[in-house]
Formats: sequence, C-alpha cells, structure tokens
Amino acid sequence: MLAVAIDGPAGAGKSTIAKKVAAELGYIYIDTGALYRAVTLACIEKGIELSNVEEIKSLLPQLDISLIFLNGEQHILLGDKDVSEIIRTEQVSMATSRVSAIPEVRSYLLELQRSFAQNNDVIMDGRDIGTVVLPNAQVKIFLTASPEKRAQRRVLQLREQGIECDKEKILFDIVQRDYNDMHRETAPLKAAENSVTVDTSDMTLEEVVKEISELIKERTI
Ligand code: C5P
Repeated sequence: MLAVAIDGPAGAGKSTIAKKVAAELGYIYIDTGALYRAVTLACIEKGIELSNVEEIKSLLPQLDISLIFLNGEQHILLGDKDVSEIIRTEQVSMATSRVSAIPEVRSYLLELQRSFAQNNDVIMDGRDIGTVVLPNAQVKIFLTASPEKRAQRRVLQLREQGIECDKEKILFDIVQRDYNDMHRETAPLKAAENSVTVDTSDMTLEEVVKEISELIKERTI
C-alpha cells in the first residue's frame, strides 16, 4: 500500500490540497483532524470541563467515532450523527488543540488512523502523520505558510461563506493553536526527518497541487 503523510500548522491548506491531489492520483484522503475534533465535540456536548483530563479519559471507551466515505468525500460520525460540519467552528478548533494534547486521546485514535492505511492507498493529513502515525510513509510533506497568509486565507474562506470575522482574532487563534500543537509533550507538530517542506505563502493552489502531485509520482514509481 502507498501512504503519503501531509503535516503542518493550522490553515496551511493541507485538506484542500490533499483532497485535490488524492482525487487526481486515486488515493483515499483521510483528514485526521476531524477525529480529534469529534472527540472534542463529544466532550463539549457532555458538558465536560476541558481541564478535567480524568473525565475526558473516562469518556473515551464510550465513544463511537467512525469515518465513512460518500462519493469519495470523508464524513465523520459520532454515534449515528454526521458531525462533519459542526466540528468546524472556531470554538471547536481551539478546544481541540487542548484535547489533542492528552496522550490517552492520541493513543485512542492511533490504531483507527493506522487501520485506514493498511487496506488503502492513502493521503493522510494532520500534525504527527509522518512522525508517529505512518512513520514508513513513502512520501512525507510538511506544508506550511506564514501565519499572516494563513489568517488571510481563512478570512477569505469565511467571507465566501457569508461570515464576517475579525482578522486579528483569527491570526491570534492560529498562532495560539500552532503554539499548543508544537509544544505538547506527546507527538508535537514538527517536520518529520525525511520530509519535504513546501512553503505555500507565495504559491497558488494550482502550483501547490502540481508540486505535490509531481513529488508523489517521483517517489512512488
Ligand atoms: O487539522 P485540523 O485543523 O482540523 O486539526 C484540529 C486540531 O486537531 C489541531 O489543532 C491539533 O490540535 C489536532 N490534531 C492533532 N493531530 C493530528 C491532527 C489534528 O493533534 N494528526
């Protein structure tokens, strides 16, 4: 099986790019952030205080999280409820960077992530895919962009959805989330040793898709 790991900070365009490259090259795209977001949503819905690590840990065995694919598009279910949309709010994003720092949450999701790569050619994006989840991935990419560019793209994306927002607040949240993800003890965000860094600050979406597709083709022939 072939595996491509794409890691990088929040808002670097990982999911948009991975989705396009996966469709082009015939891989299944797995967005692992959605799994951490779903665990976090479950905590919020249960009214669990995010500082209450013991309560979060005891919730894990009761969780029923699954990924399904409809027309090639990943959907995430909590029980039988499709939560793919409601896990995308800023509130859930910020809360997720706290919940994902809990080692038991990470080990709870580890096997689930690996199981997808056992039976499928995958492009998986996240924070620790090349370093922890799929250390033997044939291609590892660290996708990044300046925090300002990432915030600017997020503002445009929200505007397209008719949502006005404060750019400074978005930038602040992005920087905070990167800090949390890079400084946690377990599986922090960092470039894997043998990864290729792609800085998309001054690249168009098409340029990034082309560069990454070519990189994958070169390495998987
Ligand atoms: O990729 P996305 O922005 O949806 O991820 C949300 C959060 O989930 C990240 O900020 C990070 O805290 C966590 N995450 C992680 N490891 C992954 C994927 C996501 O810790 N592999």
